[in-house]
Amino acid sequence: MSNERLTIAVQKSGRLSKESMKLLEACGVKFNLHEARLMAHSTSHPVDLLRVRDDDIPGLVMDGVVDLGLVGENVLEEERLERAIKQQANGFTQLRRLDFGFCRLSVAVPKEENYQGLQDLNGKKIATTYPRILESYLKKQGVNARTVMLTGSVEVAPRAGLADAICDLVSTGATLEANGLVEQEVIFRSQVQIIQRAEALSESKQALVDKLLTRLDGVQLAKE
Ligand code: ATP
Ligand code: ZN
Repeated sequence: MSNERLTIAVQKSGRLSKESMKLLEACGVKFNLHEARLMAHSTSHPVDLLRVRDDDIPGLVMDGVVDLGLVGENVLEEERLERAIKQQANGFTQLRRLDFGFCRLSVAVPKEENYQGLQDLNGKKIATTYPRILESYLKKQGVNARTVMLTGSVEVAPRAGLADAICDLVSTGATLEANGLVEQEVIFRSQVQIIQRAEALSESKQALVDKLLTRLDGVQLAKE
């Protein structure tokens, strides 16, 4: 019966971890977490948590390896576009948008640049961790710029001479400011979503998901 347990992927450690666990617990799903472990079994429901890097969550759901995932829309959209290009399965069901993990993906340029508008990005190199979202935006706007993929330290790329501008996640803007960058274009707004794999779940698992969603709606409503 082990496959009758609902599997949920959450970020192991990072900005989304605490809120993700808090939300599940608020829905009545209890866990005994062992910090180092990948898996955690619920003590209250037939639910297993898979604790992974947030970047792995959309793929795990799209491949049907887990049933549900909690992940930022920025990471979700990047994976969806990447898989569309590679013609890989990228389906999933959007269950709810959750009220945490708010951020925006923005283009920022060095403050000494006299930036006038998007057309100034023509012919420029833009460093980002989200090349697919950025490319799709640039294409729509008719801007011809190159993207440079960096998985970390994106904000130092202009100073290091690796790029002319960056496209990175912003919440307060303090990191940009500290690096002499000015936010110029917001290209994507993000928050956390709970998603379900495209392939249907067994009846019992779906019934559990529906029950959890009802509780979740109650929790979210109570916060408003
Ligand atoms: P992991 O080790 O899981 O890959 P990470 O370093 O990629 O972690 P975090 O920095 O924990 O990820 O961010 C996870 C998510 O939190 C982001 O993808 C985004 O959806 C959200 N987020 C909210 N605010 C910010 C912010 N200011 N900067 C970065 N991410 C933010
Ligand atoms: Zn990540």
